[in-house]
Amino acid sequence: MKIAVIGSGIAGLSASWYLGKEHEVTLLEKHPLVGMDAHGTDLSSNGNFVRVDVPFRAFKRNYYPCLLELYEEAGIEVRPVDYSFSLNYGDGTTYFGFSTLGIGNNFVPIPYLVCFSNKTSRRIFSDAIRFYEESERELHSLDGEQLTISQFLSRFGYSIEFEDLYLIPMFSTINTCTSESAKNYPAEAVIGYHSQGLKFLRFLTPLKGTRDVTEKLSKGASSVRLSTDPKKIVLEKDKVKLLFDNGEEYFDRVVVAAPANQAISILPNEYTREKELLSKLKYEASEVVTHSDDSFMPKNKKHWAPMCFSLSQDGSSATATILLNKVLPSMKGKDVFQTWNPLVQPKEENFISRSKFERPVIDLASQKTLAELKNLQELPDRKVWLCGSYARYGIPLLEAGVSTSLDVKRWVEQSIKR
Ligand SMILES: Cc1cc2nc3c(=O)[nH]c(=O)nc-3n(C[C@H](O)[C@H](O)[C@H](O)COP(=O)(O)OP(=O)(O)OC[C@H]3O[C@@H](n4cnc5c(N)ncnc54)[C@H](O)[C@@H]3O)c2cc1C
Repeated sequence: MKIAVIGSGIAGLSASWYLGKEHEVTLLEKHPLVGMDAHGTDLSSNGNFVRVDVPFRAFKRNYYPCLLELYEEAGIEVRPVDYSFSLNYGDGTTYFGFSTLGIGNNFVPIPYLVCFSNKTSRRIFSDAIRFYEESERELHSLDGEQLTISQFLSRFGYSIEFEDLYLIPMFSTINTCTSESAKNYPAEAVIGYHSQGLKFLRFLTPLKGTRDVTEKLSKGASSVRLSTDPKKIVLEKDKVKLLFDNGEEYFDRVVVAAPANQAISILPNEYTREKELLSKLKYEASEVVTHSDDSFMPKNKKHWAPMCFSLSQDGSSATATILLNKVLPSMKGKDVFQTWNPLVQPKEENFISRSKFERPVIDLASQKTLAELKNLQELPDRKVWLCGSYARYGIPLLEAGVSTSLDVKRWVEQSIKR
């Protein structure tokens, strides 16, 4: 079978990898680089060349079974990364944080003294322990009742300090969404990610960075065409036609691994309901800036954790800054930072790179939308399917991208057997 996969983020790469075992896969990407690595930036650090992933992504052993299996199969090595963090007010004062001691696959968190020095920090500390240990059980006690994370926290008596100074600032920056969207995330999704007991499993990242991931996974495709974006998919009797600016090409099957909001315009005219469903999914814009401006960091250098969260002056929004020297062993010498959702811009002389992203935002209504989308994709006689991190009800992370591509692989195989 001749199969086109449109989009080379993790979902498209994973679809190409799995479908490429049996079929002739053409991977199409509109960027001049493979999508997952398209925003990375090259730096020279103490005379060494360093490729900095933008964004710097990490994952946990217990939340990413499909991703880890894929990486292992493709020979992508991973390494533990210290992802300890500090939480800071807008003036740079730290109110919560910990450092870690890594032991094998686990880590021992060592809380900063500040966690015990005032009432607010102590409340956050005790609620955080309770949340990691108890929230899964509390969620089960709801017996299927769907709550947002904010409703969940108030139902079970978590403090406002824990919500507004801990969970929401972290969740909104990690998911590059507004605080309001973070509060409206389904409790089930947030708890499924954050709370799997007090296990303290170390975060992982690809040993050789995202470039190694894209190089290895794109080998699944027979051909990779960059700077190529089909404008429209047309269903014909036995084939699927892709229309490009400068021509057309026929395939037996097509997988659309573009983000939902970019997929709508290229889907076949017949996919009216799919387009309606995709347009219900919300996206929020975000920015990632790489720089060397240390004014983004806490006042006290002892609190310079690998990930430093900072609140805005009025506390209504948050930003996260990664100290790249602590997460990239090859980064030596001068400190380099990567700030997600910056509230202000770094000084011009410290600026290195800026990338814009759009990220899906999941809420309680998404469950119905995504369930219907999945049902439509399971219908027989299809030749075009969709996958992507947006397509799984939960947090749109790398794992969702891989797991939805595995669904597509199954549907493609079923369509061939029929
Ligand atoms: C700041 C930030 C930090 C993050 N950190 C983490 C993390 O630590 N861990 C984690 O698990 N996840 C993280 N994520 C989320 C993760 O990066 C995404 O979930 C994942 O990359 C989405 O993959 P995807 O394949 O679904 O979509 P995308 O990566 O968006 O890929 C879609 C591709 O389709 C291409 N495309 C679109 N239209 C066309 C067309 N017509 N023709 C050809 N190509 C097209 C696009 O150019 C793009 O390359 C982070 C995201 C951001 C923004």
